[in-house]
Amino acid sequence: MVIKKINEITDEIQDVELTAKVLSLSQKERNSEKGNSVYHYGLLGDETGVLPFTAWNISSMVREKDVVNIKRAYTKKYNDKIRIYFDDKTEFALKPDVEMEVKRTYNYEKIKNLGSGVKFVTLEGILREEKEREFENNGEKRKVYSYVMDDDTGSIRISSFGRKLPMGHGVRLEGVKIDEFNGRVNASLGERAEVHDIELQIEKGPKFTYISEIVNPIGGIYITGFPISIGEKSGLIKRCKECKKKIDDERCETHPEAGFYYDIFAYFNVDDGTGYISVTTGMDAIKDICGIKPEELSNEKRPPLKKEIYERIERSLMGKALKIQGSLSKNTMGMSLRASLVSSIRVEDNKELKKIMESEFL
Ligand SMILES: [Zn+2]
Repeated sequence: MVIKKINEITDEIQDVELTAKVLSLSQKERNSEKGNSVYHYGLLGDETGVLPFTAWNISSMVREKDVVNIKRAYTKKYNDKIRIYFDDKTEFALKPDVEMEVKRTYNYEKIKNLGSGVKFVTLEGILREEKEREFENNGEKRKVYSYVMDDDTGSIRISSFGRKLPMGHGVRLEGVKIDEFNGRVNASLGERAEVHDIELQIEKGPKFTYISEIVNPIGGIYITGFPISIGEKSGLIKRCKECKKKIDDERCETHPEAGFYYDIFAYFNVDDGTGYISVTTGMDAIKDICGIKPEELSNEKRPPLKKEIYERIERSLMGKALKIQGSLSKNTMGMSLRASLVSSIRVEDNKELKKIMESEFL
C-alpha cells in the first residue's frame, strides 16, 4: 500500500491510502442484470488538490465535510481522467480532530459546455473588448472590467472585479464563476480567482455549430441553413426617438412628443438538417442581404411601405442557403439566435451544409 497526497495521484494505482476531506457525496441507482444497486460518488480534497471518486461501497459513517483516512482504495482512468474508487475492501476511519484546508482546483471547460447553474470552472481563451465601469460597494467606489472571451467553441461575456486582465493573448482563468442572467451564460472573476498567461492559438471569428448541438446560451457562433418560415410581424417597425423602444402607434406612451423613426426587425426559423432554431435580426445584420439602405427608412418624401419591406425581406431570405452569425439567448420559448450578420452562401461553398443536404435527399 502506498500513501499519497491528491496531487500525487496521476496514474492507476491498485492499493492506495490517503487522508482527505469529503467535499461532496451523492448517491445514484444502478440497474443491471443482477438487479438494482446503489453507489455513491463525489469529490475528495486535501491541501494539494481535488479528485472525483466513485464508491461501490462506502462506510455509512462518512458524511460530507468529514476528514477521513481511507485505506485500500484504488485509482483508475475514466474518460481519460483519473478517479479514486472504493469497493468492499476499502477501510474508512473518521478524523474529527484533523483540520484540513482544501486547495480548490476547478474543472476545465470549453465555452460551449458552460451550462446553467452556478459553478466554478477553469477557462482558457483570449480576451478582447475591454470596458470599464464604476460601482459602489458599502459606500466605496470600485471598478469592474468586462471583456469578451473567445475559445475555439464560442464566446462569453466575462467581468472582473477590481482587476484589469491581459488582452490579446492566451490566458487561463482558474475559479471563474459561471451563472445565467437574462437568458445568457455569464462569467465573473472574483478576487480569489487566478490568472495565468499561456500559449494559445485560436481561429478568429464565430465558430460553426450544428443546430442540434446547441445547448447553452453562449455567443460567438454561426450556423448555416435554410429559413423555413418567416414571422408575420417582420419588417418595418417604428421606434421612439427618445427611448428607442418599439412603438405600436404614432407615439411612445412615455414620450408622446418625441416622434418616431423607422427601423427593421425580422424573425424566422432556420433548419440545417439537424434541427431548427428561431433567429431574430435587426437592420444592421440583414441590410446587405436584403439590399435595404438606411436612407430609404429616413426618406420623408417617400416613407417606406410596410408591405414592400416585408416582401423584400421575404424574397431575400426564403429558399436561400444562409450563414447566420450571432449570440444565443434562452427565454420561455426556448433558445433563439440574435443575428449580428446574415449572409447568403452558395451550398457548393459550404461543406457542412452540403453534407447535410445530400444526406437529406439520399
Ligand atoms: Zn419613448
